[in-house]
Amino acid sequence: MKPAPASLHARHRAVMPDWLGLYYREPLELTHGEGRHVWDAHGRRYLDFYGGVLTTMTAHALPEVTKAVGEQAGRILHTSTFYLDRHMVELAERIAALSRIPDPRVFFTTSGTEANDTALLLATAHRRSHQVLAMRNSYHGRSFSSIAVTGNSAWSPTALSPLQTLYVHGGVRTRGPYAHLSDAEFTAACVADLEDVLGQAHGTVAALIAEPVQGVGGFTAPPDGLYAAFREVLDRHGILWISDEVQTGWGRTGDHFWGWQAHAENGPPDLVTFAKGLGNGMAVGGVVGRAEVMNSLDAHSVSTFGGSPVTTAAALANLTYLLEHDLQGNARRVGGLLAERLRAIAAGLPVVREVRGRGLMLGIELAERDGTPSGRAAAAALEHCREGGLLVGRGGREGNVLRIAPPLTLTVAEAEQGAAVLEQALRRSQQDLD
Ligand code: PLP
Repeated sequence: MKPAPASLHARHRAVMPDWLGLYYREPLELTHGEGRHVWDAHGRRYLDFYGGVLTTMTAHALPEVTKAVGEQAGRILHTSTFYLDRHMVELAERIAALSRIPDPRVFFTTSGTEANDTALLLATAHRRSHQVLAMRNSYHGRSFSSIAVTGNSAWSPTALSPLQTLYVHGGVRTRGPYAHLSDAEFTAACVADLEDVLGQAHGTVAALIAEPVQGVGGFTAPPDGLYAAFREVLDRHGILWISDEVQTGWGRTGDHFWGWQAHAENGPPDLVTFAKGLGNGMAVGGVVGRAEVMNSLDAHSVSTFGGSPVTTAAALANLTYLLEHDLQGNARRVGGLLAERLRAIAAGLPVVREVRGRGLMLGIELAERDGTPSGRAAAAALEHCREGGLLVGRGGREGNVLRIAPPLTLTVAEAEQGAAVLEQALRRSQQDLD
């Protein structure tokens, strides 16, 4: 008798490394998508409250993006950074204009990791120092340099590092020594911590890298103005500010196009990194920054696939749609309503410690009865949501935060549908704990 064919999950496990995590007891295979919905291999439809991984910025199978990809793929898939490319130049011009950085330059990469790697390379070359500042509880990718600035060992699989990193407070507010402080007190305490850390540094520090809203860290944001207050200190030491906008860029946070604009008093960052949503799922990321810093490398350096024609054609179509349809405004409006609804649901459920976030980047932090972070409640809620036809993400230091980041075209009706599923899922998670 022939052996039964192995499931895709078994084949995945046999050939992929163990550390490549999958969601769900029975992992999903998604086969297609449209708008805010995706379908699995069994034909089951889900409302996608995670937008891939914040990658589907506008909508699944957005006709404008699909057409741009198809047309470019039919012309030529790849040329080379050694030749001129119309889409690459036009996209760089658009991003330069949107960056609000004076005299900017743009470099394209294929991922957020590579974008941060490049920013750190530029900053350390410019400042001639390998000493950098990063935030506790941060996540910046999985290359040697980006894990070296990732402030949680659970996401940073080796301590070997080409950088010397000093960690500062400012990401997490729900626990630790700075919990329960007012915004002004929290900001003052973090600035004092930054000053203290700089007092212990060995000479020159190259840069601070920070996410305006921590993504993998559980969608936690410092008070508005924290990085403006940091900037004052950094400027005194000539230290560069790198804003990692891989999750927060392109209007996702609703009030602002870039996350750093909540901290804009003392001017824009020196370097901004981006990826995820720009290409609506196509692999395109990059860095935009001040020319003086961007031009710091004095050897020839390229990215073979960074900014390739198909990805930049997709990004141009996606960005055009996003701006023409004011999706930042939609993120603010629909995200605001969704946050309100989730807070009302949470009011009756002790398992929910906090609903937080901005625009369409909302986190639901879960806790045990005694207030300790509950990864198991989040894992259960994820399964319950799936059973209800809703996909959400998970994050936070203990995996105890549900992450909601749908495509920015989410409608009010879809927000309400998703909230109803979340309500049931959270009630069941509460019962699981009781
Ligand atoms: N920076 C942030 C803030 C991220 O959330 C991520 C990925 O989740 C990265 C960088 C790394 O991006 P990528 O997975 O495209 O390498």
